[in-house]
Amino acid sequence: MKTNFIEALEQYDIEGIKRIPKGDLHNHAPRGGNVRFIEKWAGVQIPRLNRKFLDLDDMQSWYKKNVRCHCQGIDGYEIRIKGAFKQAKDDGVTKLVLSFGLGEETIYGSLSNFVKVISRIHKDVAPEIEFIPELSLDRGTNVDSILHLCAEYFNMNFYRSIDICGNEFAQPIANFKPLYRLAKSYGLKLRAHAGEFGDADSVREAVEELELDEVQHGIAVAKCKNTTRWLAENNITLNICPASNIILSRSQDYKTHPIRTLFDSGVRVTINTDDILIFDVSISRMFLDFYKDNIFTVYELNEIRQNGLM
Ligand SMILES: [Zn+2]
Repeated sequence: MKTNFIEALEQYDIEGIKRIPKGDLHNHAPRGGNVRFIEKWAGVQIPRLNRKFLDLDDMQSWYKKNVRCHCQGIDGYEIRIKGAFKQAKDDGVTKLVLSFGLGEETIYGSLSNFVKVISRIHKDVAPEIEFIPELSLDRGTNVDSILHLCAEYFNMNFYRSIDICGNEFAQPIANFKPLYRLAKSYGLKLRAHAGEFGDADSVREAVEELELDEVQHGIAVAKCKNTTRWLAENNITLNICPASNIILSRSQDYKTHPIRTLFDSGVRVTINTDDILIFDVSISRMFLDFYKDNIFTVYELNEIRQNGLM
């Protein structure tokens, strides 16, 4: 039987696609909002992105110059978080993992104050969304210096998953082992960015060293058949962000994006936004574009959608 999602795809009905439940498991909260929502709040016009980025530094400086300058301080932070929940709600996201960098909470003086604010925004904007807060560490972090703080935070039972992002080459991922052991003992889901800029081996290393459940991006794996097979056999999900990969010059376009190869090799993949405030491409739009470009069938896209809700 055809689901509404399949019918909406076949009819190129973006509004219909938006109404169907979906997950977003890779979303950096302060950059998870909607550009038009921020424009309205700040009373400004933000230039639309009309080029690809060379790397993460290039992206950061564009973001600071064009978006971040309009939403600074506590008010600016909160409007971006509100924007993230609103964007997700408007796109039919029913399961939302929002990633918060360690240190973001300090503007509120304590984690408990931060939790109150974030929980209030969730309740006010999109209480129907299953919200999964994630603690995100920069790859350059000195792990010994934050272990104690993280233990204190895990005790407060707010964060339900953990991630590492930023420069993949900053230090060996194995340095995060003590933190991931700790996170595992608290029952957190274990994720890390790997294989976005790094190679296939770096993805396997991350999964093995940190006992990851899921990898953020992981697309470099497609270049190595053995690692791809290994990932599929070990049921490791890749939370892929195709629009991000294209804009950050990790892939030419949807047609050549490795998600098709990974899917064909039996790797469980999901489609996510990453930094939608910058890229301005929704999950519904990506589903539709993959269908329009004839890369996935409606049934395959429905399977990918359901992966995001598991
Ligand atoms: Zn990311």
